[in-house]
Amino acid sequence: MVSLAGHRQQSSELPAIYLFTNNILVMIHQTQKTAITEFSREELSGWFEAKGMRGFRADQVMRWIYTRSAASFGEMTNIAKTVRESLDQAFSMGTMVPAVERKAVDGTRKFSFELKGGCRIESVLLGEKDHYTVCISTQAGCAMGCSFCMTAKSGLIRNLSPGEIIGQVMAARRLCADDRPLTNIVLMGMGEPLANFDNVLAALGIITDAENGMKFASRKITLSTVGIAPKIETLARQSKVRLAVSLNAPDNETRSRLMPISRTYPIEDILTACRAYNRLHRDRITFEYILIRDVNDAPAQARQLARLLSPIRGKVNLIPYNPHPGSPFERPYAGTIENFHNILIESHCTSMIRWSKGEDIDAACGQLAAGKIKAAAVEAR
Ligand code: SF4
Repeated sequence: MVSLAGHRQQSSELPAIYLFTNNILVMIHQTQKTAITEFSREELSGWFEAKGMRGFRADQVMRWIYTRSAASFGEMTNIAKTVRESLDQAFSMGTMVPAVERKAVDGTRKFSFELKGGCRIESVLLGEKDHYTVCISTQAGCAMGCSFCMTAKSGLIRNLSPGEIIGQVMAARRLCADDRPLTNIVLMGMGEPLANFDNVLAALGIITDAENGMKFASRKITLSTVGIAPKIETLARQSKVRLAVSLNAPDNETRSRLMPISRTYPIEDILTACRAYNRLHRDRITFEYILIRDVNDAPAQARQLARLLSPIRGKVNLIPYNPHPGSPFERPYAGTIENFHNILIESHCTSMIRWSKGEDIDAACGQLAAGKIKAAAVEAR
């Protein structure tokens, strides 16, 4: 068997299925082909060379998948039939089809995907005036435990593989229902992207590959983090995507109540990492601030936030909290939100109020829910 050195995917083996037939218990070992979207150009090129073929075939195959959206190896007509057959024996296309889709009154669409191992993730397609933005997940569940977030309730189930991250973007592109193009990607769905750093970076490599990949501009991609400070600095060196930091409080005490990660990486460490990011990137950092009634919405906190961020090239997105069942928090009154915003503006801190889309289908910020679906449901597909 030819190995693909260095690939990051988790095991492709499925558990055995037991069938009870004619009073005999039969055990069937399932095998599953690995999705070709799991592999980088170098890895695919290595696979071809190990099979005695020319490495440039990898470029051809990638262009069929990522540029021409081929649905099968059979469509790759400029590749010899024998090569297509070898590909078909070794790989699946990695196409991800939503198991469930919900549409909000504002047109926002939420897709649920069932993944290997029985976990479920969600991504959200947001229609803008002249383009689409997709919000994708990078983990099933999340270990960060933010107290305002629905995803946190499930804990971390597992990291998504590169192919599972890319697959959400490919599905969104396929599911755009009109001629507005999908141009923007935000890594703000389930999970903490910097806690799945290698797989996220591998996926971004394909997504932004202008030659053989999906050709997205790095400046149209925003990665949102809770503030894993050392990884922010690594990201700044290794990628050109935009950075968003989920800040949500101007002091460590309030922030620790909302985001336990603050005890490991206090605000001072995060801002040091942000300054390092500023030195390497001209784009402003977005600081997300979910406004929660009587927790972080006081005028003094607005003034403190403006002072804190004054040395950073950034802007603040104020997101009025989206309540979900069982949440202890509430959205501030409209006047409080306006007042907080005005204080930031008067303090020369660039700020916008962002009303989330898709609230009626639980697709708004912090409302995506992860879960482990019944294994039987996956096996039956
Ligand atoms: S807000 Fe983001 S990082 Fe925090 S628990 Fe939710 S998914 Fe994880």
